[in-house]
Amino acid sequence: METKMNKKFAMWKNIPREKIHWQPVIDPDKCTGCGMCVTSCGREVFGFDAEKKKAVVANPLNCMVGCTSCEIWCVFNAISFPDHQYVKDLIKEKRLLILAKKQLKEQLLLS
Ligand code: SF4
Ligand code: SF4
Repeated sequence: METKMNKKFAMWKNIPREKIHWQPVIDPDKCTGCGMCVTSCGREVFGFDAEKKKAVVANPLNCMVGCTSCEIWCVFNAISFPDHQYVKDLIKEKRLLILAKKQLKEQLLLS
């Protein structure tokens, strides 16, 4: 399946998205093909293999860094993510709190 990244999601906090290892992983043995993840993720991360009747991760780089909503939505526990600490460490290592503060100020000035 062809992977496509929405340009809108190409960077996260000034980091190229492809350098961040955050995306859902589906266990095909647990996936029942219920469609909950495919129809609920707002970023078109999931596709559906109609032949196998299972969800697939079609556009992993569209996944919002740190989001785990689909893991919660999957009542069959077929979706998993890396340890949350990975994102927390990234925020610290890349000093993203400084950037967030700057962005917050700009946002408040705009409102
Ligand atoms: S929500 Fe879970 S079981 Fe349902 S299609 Fe997605 S991965 Fe498969
Ligand atoms: S974590 Fe969020 S953005 Fe990523 S695939 Fe799941 S619902 Fe979509």
